[in-house]
Amino acid sequence: MIRVTVWNEYLHEINQPEVAAIYPEGIHGCIAEFLGRNEDITVRTATLSMPQNGLPEEVLENTDVLIWWGHMAHDRVEDETVMRVHRHVLSGMGLVALHSAHHSKVMKTLLGTTLNLKWRHGDRERVWCIAPAHPIAKGVPQQFLLPCEEMYGEPFDIPTPDETLFLGWFSGGEVFRSGVTFTRGKGRIFYFQPGHEEYPIYHDENVQRIITNGVRWACISDISRGEIPVENPEPLEG
Ligand code: ZN
Repeated sequence: MIRVTVWNEYLHEINQPEVAAIYPEGIHGCIAEFLGRNEDITVRTATLSMPQNGLPEEVLENTDVLIWWGHMAHDRVEDETVMRVHRHVLSGMGLVALHSAHHSKVMKTLLGTTLNLKWRHGDRERVWCIAPAHPIAKGVPQQFLLPCEEMYGEPFDIPTPDETLFLGWFSGGEVFRSGVTFTRGKGRIFYFQPGHEEYPIYHDENVQRIITNGVRWACISDISRGEIPVENPEPLEG
């Protein structure tokens, strides 16, 4: 079983009726629902307002893959939470960072750059799959359309990714590295751009397939998990 925790700051859905209409159970509830349809995945959710932001040590210890959605309250995530998540990623917990999670303290800490990008509301996106042999692209068409999505455009200030899987093209002409992977310590990180809260992006079947594939890819076996060794080894003989 892959143990997934879906984290959401859960503010837009409470404060904006038009967002609540799209996600009555919250974005985390929508993602948990479609992931939970898979027999190999078990899901829990956590939100910003919970004690320790819903991510105390015992939750992270029992999480194989953490999904992160945050937008307007990155600064309200406690530094202790960020450091716990950072430590767990380095020791093998997978991270799937969605949409505006690019500016989360968790992602900035893991990747070390500004993660700045261009953006504009109310565009249309065509997502191109440019790595069809990658596990995250399994069952994903060569391209698909998101009729309404926020434009995220290059330059995207990230370190050079391990792999670039998806490119987004927007009707305003911009392009974006919409799906990229990184490795930090033992942890696998998948960043996926679609998911602005005002549009029903997480109801899209291709988006759901990509996130589900991302979860399976980011989960490494229990046997590989554990603290990164820091002690210096004895020199080898011969
Ligand atoms: Zn957005």
